[in-house]
Amino acid sequence: AEIERMEMRKAMDLAAKLYHHVLMKTRYGADARNYLAKRGVSQEAMEEFQLGYAPASFDFLLSFLKGRGFNEALLEKAGLLSLREDKGMKRYFDRFRDRIMFPIMDSQGRVIAFGGRLLGEGRPKYMNSPETPIYSKGNHLFNLHRARSHIRKEQQAILFEGYMDVISAWQAGFPGCVATLGTSLTDDQARILKRNTETVILCYDSDQAGQNAAARGMELLRKQECTVKIAQMPHGMDPDDYILRFGGTAFKEEVLSAALTLTAFKLENLKRNHNLHDEDDRMKYLAEAIGTIAELPLVVEQDHYLRRLAEEFGLSLDALKEDLRRAKKRKK
Ligand code: ATP
Ligand code: MN
Ligand code: MN
Ligand code: MN
Repeated sequence: AEIERMEMRKAMDLAAKLYHHVLMKTRYGADARNYLAKRGVSQEAMEEFQLGYAPASFDFLLSFLKGRGFNEALLEKAGLLSLREDKGMKRYFDRFRDRIMFPIMDSQGRVIAFGGRLLGEGRPKYMNSPETPIYSKGNHLFNLHRARSHIRKEQQAILFEGYMDVISAWQAGFPGCVATLGTSLTDDQARILKRNTETVILCYDSDQAGQNAAARGMELLRKQECTVKIAQMPHGMDPDDYILRFGGTAFKEEVLSAALTLTAFKLENLKRNHNLHDEDDRMKYLAEAIGTIAELPLVVEQDHYLRRLAEEFGLSLDALKEDLRRAKKRKK
């Protein structure tokens, strides 16, 4: 089985090189090159991320790898080919056709899977490698092997949803970024992040799906005892859109620096649900805010947010502390 995995890695590596060559150097790759250029992806990024193009053919990769002596059943198991059985006849064909190819690498930089994107609209927009003997989705993060040293140095990781977010951020000067790749964050991925950094900034799409995924991700990272911050994008945008439109400086100053801690995020949400100009409603907000603060594990954290409340609303800290004490008692 180890021999089989070695063969698969070799095939993945060759496939990545072939797709990359097609994108960069051939007329078959022209449309894909234009598409990427139009989306602001530089030549340098195409090289760095080894982006590729799988031509619109059923046997392009198949015949290339067969010519190199690879066995079709193994290539199917590696997720490079698909199989159709027709009256007992097995037919293999290229799984990825007419797609921009994003190689997914393991922590040592070896290609273990691909994501493939259509050049325009259509479904499914992305197609990824299936689970294989060398790839299990939940155990990997896109771009980790490039980002890891930066993440460690800065003690901060930026977590995105998609490939394009990572590539845009890289181009704008943010090398410490990784992505979960369509699935919501798993325990394993949270553990990997925790091994490399104290702080994770969640920077998910501002659509409902992204916000839900962020909420789940937050809880998992908390369980690993990571400090989690939530960065927010203007409505309807994802990080790639934002960086293209407003640039890297704005991304740093308006999005990353403005990222909220989990508690600040919850308090922000509470605030939005109350009319603070109404005295009654303001009192309700304060009661709920104190309830949220009461759930914090550390007294110093509780103290920090109580002080902020006291300042913001011109209240006595002693009164807030007394209310907090009562709120904790009620929770027991
Ligand atoms: P683009 O900017 O090219 O439209 P995106 O990254 O913004 O791409 P999203 O729809 O936000 O795309 O999806 C985020 C990520 O989820 C993608 O980068 C991809 O990894 C994954 N993904 C999206 N759709 C699918 C799909 N149909 N199957 C598998 N993975 C998907
Ligand atoms: Mn999305
Ligand atoms: Mn997106
Ligand atoms: Mn996008």
